[in-house]
Amino acid sequence: MAFWKEKTLAEMNTSEWESLCDGCGKCCLNKIIDDETEELYYTNAACKLLDPHEAHCIHYTQRFNFVPLCTQVTIDNVAELTWLPDSCAYRRLYSGKSLPSWHPLLTGSKSEMHQQGMSTQDKITCETKVKYMEDHIVLWPLKDLD
Ligand code: SF4
Repeated sequence: MAFWKEKTLAEMNTSEWESLCDGCGKCCLNKIIDDETEELYYTNAACKLLDPHEAHCIHYTQRFNFVPLCTQVTIDNVAELTWLPDSCAYRRLYSGKSLPSWHPLLTGSKSEMHQQGMSTQDKITCETKVKYMEDHIVLWPLKDLD
């Protein structure tokens, strides 16, 4: 049986944990929280390290050298990271859901994820070019399938 079906998140080893990441890039988007309502809004303004077409971090293993405030998703903080998108594999498994049908672990590549619009591919603007973050609020990162 696939490891994500027979193990809990806490039981997974490092390579299994890392492979759960679909590489969608949505966690690399800037978000805005409304001070009054505490509602979370996604923007299409992405971290300067996110490749706009490949939807992956161009310096993943050294990313903290470039972006010290980048967050590493771990078993210890996954419950608190409520800003991760609903489609995120870590959130889905943590909340008792299965992996979505387009997940690279099931399809063998990121192609299906891109085709179904579940990644940041070709949808983002680099944060360094953004003047007003509010002008970049988008809804597509909220989409979840399955
Ligand atoms: S949102 Fe989750 S699955 Fe997608 S890239 Fe970020 S950590 Fe990986």
